Amino acid sequence: MKTISILGATGSIGQNTLDLISRERNKFQVKGLTGSKNIKLLAQSAIKFGVDVVATADDEKYLDLKNLLSGYDIEVCAGVSGLLEVAGREADWVMSAIVGYAGLLPGLAALEAGANLALANKESMVSAGPILKEVANRKGVKIMPVDSEHSAISQVIRGENLDSLVKIIITASGGAFRNLSKSDLMNVTPDQAAKHPNWEMGKRITIDSASLFNKALEVIEAKELFDLKASEIEVLIHPQSLVHAIACFQDSGMKAHLSPPDMRHAIAYALHEEKRLNLSLKEIDLASVGELIFEKPDTDKYPALELGFDVIRQGGLAGAAFNAAKEQALDDFLNHQLKFTEMADVVRATMDELISQNRLDKVVELEAVKAVDNLARSVARRSAEKFQI
Ligand code: NAD
Ligand code: MG
Repeated sequence: MKTISILGATGSIGQNTLDLISRERNKFQVKGLTGSKNIKLLAQSAIKFGVDVVATADDEKYLDLKNLLSGYDIEVCAGVSGLLEVAGREADWVMSAIVGYAGLLPGLAALEAGANLALANKESMVSAGPILKEVANRKGVKIMPVDSEHSAISQVIRGENLDSLVKIIITASGGAFRNLSKSDLMNVTPDQAAKHPNWEMGKRITIDSASLFNKALEVIEAKELFDLKASEIEVLIHPQSLVHAIACFQDSGMKAHLSPPDMRHAIAYALHEEKRLNLSLKEIDLASVGELIFEKPDTDKYPALELGFDVIRQGGLAGAAFNAAKEQALDDFLNHQLKFTEMADVVRATMDELISQNRLDKVVELEAVKAVDNLARSVARRSAEKFQI
């Protein structure tokens, strides 16, 4: 029996992971789950899978969660310490699917406890990739990509000699506003941005998909996971979301990975450690698809994308600053304090300010990441005030 914990169990990735586990209950034992506000779903999932321990990130929900689980032999904890308690319990495999920077410490705790980490939480890799990789190396455990593009990269380079790899292409759907012009984007609302044409995902990543901030994060994630230079990564708009990554080799051969836009494909590949199972997902009917469409991204319409490449070129703590500024700008957009198109301006201004103060040329250590995360959020907030609607 493989023992498993899921960090962010109530979210889109967490629930898809539990769906896969529920199909093969005899192979997996779920030890711990974490959630945040949706304690009803957290409690239901904990009971269904008979877990040992649950944690809500929200301290104020502790008593309600305890009530929901009274009569069950399930330990209940709360707050960051509760998340770390669950993440640090012994398990063979841990899904890191908390959204945002909040996933960093629990992900690290899981690695420190000796678990293989399935990584959906790209923000932790962007903010602190070298730290996660050092802990995984030291503990002799794996970090397995769950993001569909990165799972696809691992699938297309498998068995290849990486010396012959020239470039990786990752695709972007273009998100909710792919058919709008730049000027149309000025007054779009959070609700409009939160509707994805192809994927069912959490609200924040869906909005990040519409701005291409998500793709910028993924460019950095690809650099960290596969040790690529900025010049070895390309992004193409592919509105159909069927091809997720393409490896380009020096003999001009290319290998593409296609799968339906359903995260269970990538999650299952990580869950079964690169074995392929019969998942019965909706198959792609290529004849009815007819043509596969690829376009160069419009950098004027999507200024966020270039920031991802700039972060790679900058190195050091640039990823931590970028992610924090982006999270702050997204909060301000969600609170109607910033326009959609202003998010990239705020992040660019934050990065410029921190670079000019030489704040980012430091070794990526945890205390330095935490300090830059804090600083970038306050610089981004201050910068957003200049744009106040
Ligand atoms: P979601 O919003 O559906 O779920 C987020 C989870 O994190 C929930 O369980 C929530 O309770 C928990 N959470 C929220 N704030 C928290 C906090 N402060 N502390 C602890 N837990 C907190 O998000 P999602 O779409 O499942 O995405 C999760 C992660 O996976 C993100 O990093 C996202 O970028 C990545 N990802 C998601 C998809 C997808 O298809 N959904 C694809 C690729 C990568
Ligand atoms: Mg992705």
